[in-house]
Amino acid sequence: MPRIAILGGGLSGRLTALQLAGQGFQTALFDSASRAGEQSAAYVAAAMLAPLAESVEATPEVIALGRQSLPLWRTLLGRLNTPVFMQQQGSLIVWHGQDKPLAVQFEQHLHRAAAAPAAEHWQAAQIAAGEPQLAGRFQAALYLPGEGQLDNRQVLDALADALDRAGVDCHWHSPVETADVQASFDWVVDCRGFGAKAAWNRPSETPDAAKLRGVRGEVARVYAPEITLNRPVRLLHPRYPLYIAPKQNHVFVIGATQIESESQAPAGVRSGLELLSALYAVHPAFGEAQILELAANLRPTLNHHNPEIRYCRTRRLVEINGLFRHGFMIAPAVTAAAVRLVAALSDNREPPPADQQSGLPYLTAP
Ligand SMILES: Cc1cc2nc3c(=O)[nH]c(=O)nc-3n(C[C@H](O)[C@H](O)[C@H](O)COP(=O)(O)OP(=O)(O)OC[C@H]3O[C@@H](n4cnc5c(N)ncnc54)[C@H](O)[C@@H]3O)c2cc1C
Repeated sequence: MPRIAILGGGLSGRLTALQLAGQGFQTALFDSASRAGEQSAAYVAAAMLAPLAESVEATPEVIALGRQSLPLWRTLLGRLNTPVFMQQQGSLIVWHGQDKPLAVQFEQHLHRAAAAPAAEHWQAAQIAAGEPQLAGRFQAALYLPGEGQLDNRQVLDALADALDRAGVDCHWHSPVETADVQASFDWVVDCRGFGAKAAWNRPSETPDAAKLRGVRGEVARVYAPEITLNRPVRLLHPRYPLYIAPKQNHVFVIGATQIESESQAPAGVRSGLELLSALYAVHPAFGEAQILELAANLRPTLNHHNPEIRYCRTRRLVEINGLFRHGFMIAPAVTAAAVRLVAALSDNREPPPADQQSGLPYLTAP
């Protein structure tokens, strides 16, 4: 069986390695950090699986990949031995009375994403029934059924356990470049996210090849024993839009800033103030919460905000990147498409121009 090296063991690397190993490939994975994944964007992410709520930010292609990925996550997690918190109780979009125009705008995005019929208008009584602790705080809301969320760190741990069980040779604390491993493997799959920036942006004869950049995001994690939310809640706000993703045991991930910067500095005071003030505005009981963490990382982002899968036969290289702010939402569909490409290439078959299941194009890498 062909030997495959996966560079990067964040979200896409772990998922790709597991699927390749499941198909019998001899798979090795290299990551510069530990098995906890603390250097990955996946480690700080809120891990919301919200293709409808994200229709404001996401392209139609990404929304479609998000819809395909929700059932794939269920199947995947069902096969893992280590339990992972996954919830699929929809998203609730709320706003203060003076911000109603933002809600109108939001609904227009839902229409564009052909998702408006799925949305339910909740009035105060429905809000009180669905989210008792928000009773009286908002007069209207939009409920988007079917959307989900995961515990990102449980996913990373469970995937690392599954890789061990599947016999994937995992090399943690091992920063690598393609050239370091190429001689020992038949194919290399680069899943290094922002860590692949220099390699991805190498000179290309295709003038419009999408360039990779990092888009900084910061989140807060708080412990609020007095608060229970049944699903992710998003606040529409002209200056501080925010989401609150309730994890298990009254831990909430609050996010996220989106800043055009590749700074990898710790989360800033200003961002912390903005996130936490908006949180307090959703419910003052959050004022008593404990701040567990303020964290920052870079979302690997291409110009068009879509993911790409590229390959080069002569270099025996496949590259997956550009998962931007939707990595958890779309990674199952994207990595499954990449695995089908690797299977075709290693079998010396000509891959189709695009993956038939996800519709993702297979691009030629420089
Ligand atoms: C603040 C924030 C909030 C987010 N919230 C959500 C959300 O709610 N929903 C959602 O769907 N997505 C969310 N995302 C996006 C999601 O986290 C990313 O899209 C996803 O993690 C990208 O996956 P990846 O595998 O490409 O990169 P990563 O997860 O970043 O993994 C890359 C891996 O490569 C490794 N690496 C780098 N360089 C090297 C090297 N030279 N050698 C070896 N290994 C290397 C790193 O250590 C890392 O483990 C969020 C991101 C951020 C930053």
